[in-house]
Amino acid sequence: MLAKRIEKVSPSTTLAISAKAKALKNQGLNVISFTAGEPDFDTPSHIKEAAIKSIKEGFTKYTPTTGIMDLKLAIHEKFKIDNNLEYEPSQIVVSCGAKHSLYNIFQVICQEADEVIIPSPYWISYLEMVKLSGAKPVILETSPENDYKVKISTLKKSVNKRTKAFILNSPSNPTGTVYSHNELKGLAEFFLEHDIFVISDEIYERLIYDGLTHISIASLNKDIFSKTIVVNGPSKTYAMTGWRIGYLGARGDIADAIGRLQDHSTSNPTSISQIAALSAIKGEQGCVSEMVSEFKKRRDVMMDMLEGIEGLRFFKPSGAFYIFCDISRFSLSSEDFANHLLQEALVACIPGNGFGFDTHIRLSFAISLEEIKEGINRISRWVRQLQKK
Ligand code: PMP
Repeated sequence: MLAKRIEKVSPSTTLAISAKAKALKNQGLNVISFTAGEPDFDTPSHIKEAAIKSIKEGFTKYTPTTGIMDLKLAIHEKFKIDNNLEYEPSQIVVSCGAKHSLYNIFQVICQEADEVIIPSPYWISYLEMVKLSGAKPVILETSPENDYKVKISTLKKSVNKRTKAFILNSPSNPTGTVYSHNELKGLAEFFLEHDIFVISDEIYERLIYDGLTHISIASLNKDIFSKTIVVNGPSKTYAMTGWRIGYLGARGDIADAIGRLQDHSTSNPTSISQIAALSAIKGEQGCVSEMVSEFKKRRDVMMDMLEGIEGLRFFKPSGAFYIFCDISRFSLSSEDFANHLLQEALVACIPGNGFGFDTHIRLSFAISLEEIKEGINRISRWVRQLQKK
């Protein structure tokens, strides 16, 4: 007999299609997979060396629950320099991945009868995390016409007395949309007026293109700073997804509460990974610009090739490493589209239904240029066949 809490949680559609693609690969078939949710680059060697050194020196015991002071000081500096945010080390909590930071936030600020606004398309886990906290997710649909951004006029309709928080993800997974200073200003005013917390997931902040800069909504003024919880981490920026480090900056009472929750759940994130994260944040940043320029090159090639596919529309991503494609002209659900594409063309993609957008699929460009070229050619041929049917 399982708890009601877990019965409400849906399995991950991302994992389902990836498992099917893997099974076909294991049969020896040459599958091209656009499903990656992580950089395909290796963790830079200076970061790995720092971790190896820490193991050799015996840094393998418990640390303070919310992270070692050196790492918190480095994050404090990073917030100040990159984001114009002044978080004291006591307001910073280091956790086992940004996903864990987010999970902790909902556990600490939400309860039954609360509502959390999630703009769609959304990153799959937000919905389930909100449900696990007991609160009700309220989905607010955006559209490609508005660059998948929330408009104040529609936001107004989703807010009521129970609205506790709003999830902001810029740059966004799955669309790659990036909010401008003016747009954030409008949102901040709205959230303050309605006394709504902002959970700002800034995990893709450094993966941004075309000269745009990332702005943290928390940096706009003192009031919105205290109503925002900023989530970030080294996973995407330094190709460190497996190390499981994420962090947040929040008001003192919220950071304290998260510390207590973590005391009795995971305790500290892995000691060795904390040293790796410290080296990532404080070390040379050339590895990041190299990765970003490679991602941009791939994005541009992929967009060029997608332009030539009739019936497939896509949104130009200004950040992250995904292209969100509209497949509504093919009259197939996103899951059917993805399954047929995999079976018939040996190309894996993520169906949009998991992001709350059944008319779309997500293609990741965290794979090599050669694979991108071959994969998009296959999609192009397959779509032509589909249109003849
Ligand atoms: N937020 C978003 C929008 C993500 O795409 C991801 C990873 N897919 C995360 C958070 C979680 O990052 P981490 O690996 O640090 O837990």
